Order: sequence, then structure tokens, then C-alpha cells
Amino acid sequence: MAWLPVVIKACYFLAALLFILGLKRMSSPRSARGGIVWAGVGMLVAVLATFALPDLHNRGLILAAVLIGVSAAWWSGRRVAMTDMPQMVALYNGMGGGAAAAIGAAELFSYAGRSVTLLDGGQFTANGADTPGTAQLVLAVLGALIGSVSFSGSLIAFAKLQGWLDRRFVFPGQRVVNMLVLASAVVLGGMIVSGQLSGPLIVAFFVLALLFGLMMTLPIGGADMPVVISLYNAFTGLAVAFEGFVLQNEAMIIAGTVVGAAGTLLTQLMAKAMNRSIGNVLFGSFGAAGGEAQAIAGSQKPIEASDAAVMMAYAERVVIVPGYGMAVAQAQHKVWEFAKLLIELGVKVKFAIHPVAGRMPGHMNVLLAEAGVPYDLIADMDDINPEFPQTDVALVIGANDVVNPLAKTDPASPIYGMPILDVSAAKQVIVVKRGKGTGFAGIENALFYADNARMLYGDGQAAASELVAALKTLES
Ligand code: NDP
Repeated sequence: MAWLPVVIKACYFLAALLFILGLKRMSSPRSARGGIVWAGVGMLVAVLATFALPDLHNRGLILAAVLIGVSAAWWSGRRVAMTDMPQMVALYNGMGGGAAAAIGAAELFSYAGRSVTLLDGGQFTANGADTPGTAQLVLAVLGALIGSVSFSGSLIAFAKLQGWLDRRFVFPGQRVVNMLVLASAVVLGGMIVSGQLSGPLIVAFFVLALLFGLMMTLPIGGADMPVVISLYNAFTGLAVAFEGFVLQNEAMIIAGTVVGAAGTLLTQLMAKAMNRSIGNVLFGSFGAAGGEAQAIAGSQKPIEASDAAVMMAYAERVVIVPGYGMAVAQAQHKVWEFAKLLIELGVKVKFAIHPVAGRMPGHMNVLLAEAGVPYDLIADMDDINPEFPQTDVALVIGANDVVNPLAKTDPASPIYGMPILDVSAAKQVIVVKRGKGTGFAGIENALFYADNARMLYGDGQAAASELVAALKTLES
């Protein structure tokens, strides 16, 4: 069967192509669902091709692992609530990093105890050959290090987002200790690469790498976890790509590189949208801005749902701004029902989305898509901001930080400099929230005290239902 390796290579190439095209399709909400299916088919092709490898051992065990993994993922994927998605991503990402580290471990342990004659630097030997090349060892060690950090770090991120670890673990000299742990892992990795392939050394290397992932993540606040997960996602991709080189598996190299690049870009975008550097997320603490916070004048002025509904029914343009509270209340369906009633009355309705509204990238897009809001009614921050001055009513539902004008006016504010939706420029603003609770940044919002703002207090879903009921009475 001389043709089999060629077919397997062709399958890997097809899988890599499907990953890239799938990712491309994910860049627009219209084609994102299809993109996920394409990437999934790519993964299936890659797994089936791997099963066909002539020198694959333990097929029964691998099949059992695949079945357990698929059942667990299917079960948890169907059950997970949209608001719990970040921790689910953290867990799955950790599994990816762990898998890459496990490949590194299997490779390194397979060399352990062997007398290794290192080849010329950078030269590969075929996988499974008696003597690993230097480049092969370097990549196996790097993949194992990065994969281990991603694995243990992602598990901590999962625990924090799940509410199992609800405080930051900080102690004096923490950064120095962390750096020492990392440096020790790197030194041991260097010793492995230089040919000291003893079992205990490899074990110590992995213990230190896993420890560094734990220690690096423990001091970071739970609310920063989405950015950290995105960073670990990039790590996982990189680790998979390195181990792909070790195994000389093209699908792993391409998929890992794509994930690494996408994760890096996403991390940068999220940090930018929060006006923070990645270093500040990893080593700083949110809300650490100095100085006296600006005093906010005025009072919060409540409004009844019936009055708010009338205001919007007679408006020409209404912009709806969803935030984290809409996700908590699962109010997206009722909000869309309300918007449809307004559209029937001839009101021009748009939805405005801030890049970091909610708790994960694309959080609001996903919820609105789930409710059936057409994509052409959804506008990004840069497109909608110039339209607020011509907007009669801005309906803010469960959003807080992303509409806080202090981000522009108060240099002492932790969110100073973060780009916001210019809701306060609208003629009237109606804010739906339960009470005086702060948002993610834990600070007051000047918008709620503005002359043109009215507060519609209540749970997002209940308030949206009241608005719907009020509009229906108005119509009849
Ligand atoms: P915020 O977290 O700033 O505010 C949410 C508001 O919703 C709260 O003030 C709360 O007030 C209200 N709320 C909570 N539950 C309900 C409910 N059931 N019904 C109605 N209202 C409710 O949300 P934003 O979306 O404005 O901002 C997101 C924040 O998260 C930003 O600071 C961003 O930087 C941060 N972040 C975002 C990430 C992302 O990827 N999207 C990642 C990490 C952080 P009350 O208690 O009074 O009801």
C-alpha cells in the first residue's frame, strides 16, 4: 500500500485547508456557524487520517479515549449556558495545551535513559528513530513547556470563572518567585536539549512548567480571565505547532500556527478594547489607577416601563445597547420582540455593540444572533458612535462600563481611555438595570446621573417584557 502515506498527507492538507477556510468564515456572524462546521469536518478528516497511519499502535485505547472525550464534550456542550461559555472555553483550551504537553512528554520519555548522540544542530531525525535531532528536542521541550503552562493556567482560569476560586492570590515577591520557577524550568529544558535525558530530570521539568502556569494565573483577577484565556489559547496553538514539527504532522503544524496567530490577535484586540496592555492584565490589577475619582453631580431619575415605551414608540430612531446584564437576564428574545414591535410602528431601530460588552469576545453578537436579530441591524462601535447625536432614544440594557462617559472625562478612573459607546450624546437615554450595582470595573457611571437619562429599574427580562406589554396596549 505505497499510496497510503500519500493519501494520509493529502487528508492532512485537506484538514488544514478546512481549518483555515473555517476560521475565515468565522470572521462574519453570517457565515460563522458554517465556519465551525467546516473546521469540525477538518478535525474529523485529520483524526480519521491519523487512524490510517500504518505504524499507529494502541488503536483500541485511542478509540476508547476518543469516545470518552466526544461523549463528555457533547454532553457538556449541549448543557452549557451562554453565560458559562468563557469557562467552557478555558477548560477545552486547557485540554489542548495538556494534549500538546503530553505529546512532548511521550516523546521525551521515549528517549529517556537512551544514550543519545546528538545530530548536527537543527537537523531532524524521523519520528521514532533511535536518536533525536537537536531541533527535534528543542521543539519537543518548547511545546511541552508552553503546553504545560497553558494546561495548568487554563485550569485555574476555569476555576476562577466557575467561582471556585474567587480571590486573587498575591504575596510579596511573587513576580520574582514566578520568574525563578520559569527560569528553573528553562534551565532543566536546556539540560534535556543538551542530551541529559534522564527520567527524573524530565519529570522535574514538567512539574516546574505546570507550577509556573498555576503561579502565573493565581494572582490574576477572575474578571481578567477572558483575556488570559485568549492568551493561553495562543500558547496552546504554538505548543501544538511545535509538537507537530516533532511528529512531522502537517495538520498539527498548520492548525497550531493558525490558532496561535488567531489567539494572539484576539488577545491584543481585547486588551486594546479595554485600554490595557497585556502586561497590565498579567501583572497589574484592574482598577489600580491612582488619583481621586471625579465627583458625579445629579441624581438617578427613575421611569416607568409604560412611559419609556411611549417615548420609544414616538421616536424616529432608537439604538439598543446590550451589555453583560442582558446576558445574565437572558433578555435577548424579549428585547428583540420589543424591537420588532417598534419597527412595526415605523421606528428605525439599531443595535450597538461594544467590542468588550459582556464577558467574552462576541458575547452580544452571539446572544442577538440566537434571538434572531438580523445582522444588518447590528452596528459596531465605530459605525454607530457618529449616529448617537441623531438618535432620539438610546435604550441601554444591562450595559454599564461600555457606556460610562467617565472613560473620556476622568483621568483617575480605571477605565479612563477605554473607547465607549457615546450613548450620552443621544437625545434621551433609558437604562435598564436592577438597581445601583456597578459593572465589571466596580465604579459609578456618570451616564446614569445625566439630565437626559432615565432609569428603568428591574431584571432585564422582566423590564423588556413590561416594555413589550406596554407597546402592545399602545397598539391596541
Ligand atoms: P458591566 O459588567 O459593566 O455592567 C453590567 C451591568 O448589568 C451591571 O451594572 C448590573 O447592574 C447590570 N445587570 C446585572 N444583572 C442584570 C440583570 N439580570 N438585569 C438587568 N441588569 C443587570 O457590563 P458591560 O457589558 O457594560 O461591560 C463589560 C465589562 O466587562 C467591561 O468593563 C469589559 O472591559 C469587561 N470585560 C469584558 C470582556 C469581554 O471579552 N467582553 C472580557 C473581560 C472583561 P445591576 O446590578 O444594578 O443590575
